[in-house]
Amino acid sequence: MHIATNLIGNYQVYTVSKPYPRICLIHYHEIGLKGHNRARFEQRLVQNVQALFSREPIGKVQRISGRLLVPIQSGTSYKDACHIEDLLCSIPGVQRVSCGYECERDMDQIYDAAIQAAHDAAPFQSFKVTARRNHTDFPVHSMDMNRLVGAKLCDEFPDAKVIMKNPECNVHVEVIQGSAYVYARSVRGIGGLPVGTGGKVVMLLSSGIDSPVATWRLAKRGAQCIAVHFSGRPQTSSTSEYLVDDIAHVLERSGCIARLYVVPFGDYQRQIAAGAPPELRVILYRRLMFKVACAIAKQENAKALGTGESLGQVASQTLDNIYVTDQACDRPVLRPLIGADKLEISDRAEKIGTFKISSEDAPDCCTLFMPRRPETHAHLPRVLDAEKAFPEDEWVTQIVQNAEVHDYNCPGYRPARTAPKRTEERLA
Ligand code: ATP
Ligand code: MG
Repeated sequence: MHIATNLIGNYQVYTVSKPYPRICLIHYHEIGLKGHNRARFEQRLVQNVQALFSREPIGKVQRISGRLLVPIQSGTSYKDACHIEDLLCSIPGVQRVSCGYECERDMDQIYDAAIQAAHDAAPFQSFKVTARRNHTDFPVHSMDMNRLVGAKLCDEFPDAKVIMKNPECNVHVEVIQGSAYVYARSVRGIGGLPVGTGGKVVMLLSSGIDSPVATWRLAKRGAQCIAVHFSGRPQTSSTSEYLVDDIAHVLERSGCIARLYVVPFGDYQRQIAAGAPPELRVILYRRLMFKVACAIAKQENAKALGTGESLGQVASQTLDNIYVTDQACDRPVLRPLIGADKLEISDRAEKIGTFKISSEDAPDCCTLFMPRRPETHAHLPRVLDAEKAFPEDEWVTQIVQNAEVHDYNCPGYRPARTAPKRTEERLA
């Protein structure tokens, strides 16, 4: 046995004569069901992980037999490896991440690596071994590997029982191509599909709780999200713009946002408030927002818009009003939260990490010049009639031209030829 254990304080410390290289294995679910498109989805996931982890101590990500192999640089501590595992779990397309060791296809090395992996998952009262070889050129059958590795673990952990159903620790041995991979830690990822496999969506992103969650949900289905934020500036401060940028930086960690267009919208709202029936103001603001988002979608070659609306949440989210705002759009509007309530959405925002930022106070442009009684059942002909008072086509062109553009790390996103460069480049 190459491992020596002794007790220091309450901790069992073990030293291994040969430390095996640490690895993470990424398991996917939906990608595995993709038939002849599967290679494209796997390739996208490889590229996303490699680019998003460029500052982490990992090597070249590779596809191996229905898994992705993420080698972790030697010298990386167990704690840092667990951090990488956590980050990997938040990437769309990742169903599960297993953190363990790579060794040669040699039973002695497999025993050592299994003991090492089991110590990472300790303490446990029960365990089992799940071995698999993907090719019969490895002479030891899976069932025999289960027995042999199990016997070594019984020696190492004499107080733990072997049970087949729901053991606390499951030590996996996978003999794939030229190596063996051994792990006992396995953490669930967010699942879904890799960003960049589902087309582009222009998201209406406020600094509220809902729209960041809606953005995350669509990114989790493979969409590249290009956000547009309407700021009340110059009628309000620019606080919401800073908050939205902070939200975008959180979404960026898992590649869930590609760009953000920031649009000063307050002066247009002021003109609408001065010239339209008060109860229709919010509907008119929102129709103008959707028209601007469609113009951006056109130049970005995005086939849909997305919002964080949820049915009946506020006056503008009745079906009558949703119908009237949708008539301003020339492409579908995706509303991934339409059936969700605020508590569910807030829970998810906590997990994504946007909740705290979204809970900060900022003036929202939708509430600017808010009438006492906003219309909850708008009638399209009346709205179209009220809209005639404003040169909206001209406004849309002006607004899109004056938008500030910020880019985030979203591997695989390339602005369409018709899309502007980010603002700093334009100013340089
Ligand atoms: P959120 O819904 O993001 O929590 P909110 O509750 O302040 O923000 P609502 O009035 O519920 O906003 O607006 C519904 C949807 O309209 C939002 O989810 C978002 O998609 C869009 N929206 C609202 N305000 C803005 C804004 N200032 N900029 C961009 N999109 C916005
Ligand atoms: Mg909302």
